[in-house]
Amino acid sequence: MRKPLIAGNWKMNMGGSDSKELSRSIRNALDDYTDIDILLCPPYTAITHVYEIIKNTSIILGAQNCFYESKGAFTGEISPLFLLDIGCKYVILGHSERRYYFGETADLIGKKMICSLDSGLNIILCVGEKLEERENGEAFEIVKSQLEGSFRNLPEDYLKKITVAYEPVWAIGTGKTCEPNMAEEMHHFIRSWFKVKFGDIISNNLRILYGGSIKPENISSLIVKEDIDGGLIGGASLNVDSFIQIIKNTIKAVH
Ligand code: PEP
Repeated sequence: MRKPLIAGNWKMNMGGSDSKELSRSIRNALDDYTDIDILLCPPYTAITHVYEIIKNTSIILGAQNCFYESKGAFTGEISPLFLLDIGCKYVILGHSERRYYFGETADLIGKKMICSLDSGLNIILCVGEKLEERENGEAFEIVKSQLEGSFRNLPEDYLKKITVAYEPVWAIGTGKTCEPNMAEEMHHFIRSWFKVKFGDIISNNLRILYGGSIKPENISSLIVKEDIDGGLIGGASLNVDSFIQIIKNTIKAVH
């Protein structure tokens, strides 16, 4: 059985003292939960603040992005090794906001994946189609090309350090959740792609998160689906009550 993972992507929010307040409230409410993995991904400048607060708990720390080299003359970039050094265990790569606002291609994301994995980080790789692609019946082709583009040069022993997040772009921050059966159909497709490419063990162990307007009210109907193993949560992870309720509802639904 795959252990559920609930990850909060704080995006460009909670950069300073508010990150301490939020992580402290989450820690106080949650640090004794062990049958679920909880991951917090603050912005870069808040990572060390959050680390100090959660360091002796089971809550995991991650970042939202990194560069594809581990050191050198790359002004303004952040190495995966630096993230590891300040307590991060995970990095989110290929988020749609990175793909579409910053022009990140599957190839570039693949390079970031290799450097992150070489450095020892775990990865959450985000994939997902835009609204017009869904409406044109292209959703599965798009997700497949995102997977194929990024997994092209990846050594097989890195695969157990990878989590995939299916995030339909039209559901991110819009309040429109993907209907659970529709999400499950894509999750099943992703797991089948892994099965064909890497075999049964890798595909059965792969965690696939859903992301897109998850709230306390809709997490239960998503998490009970066979191939949905958790959630990547944006807006609702900024509110302590919503985030905690999402975690509690997840635990209740999977038991
Ligand atoms: C996200 O950005 O990964 C996300 C899922 O955002 P939201 O929950 O706000 O839709």
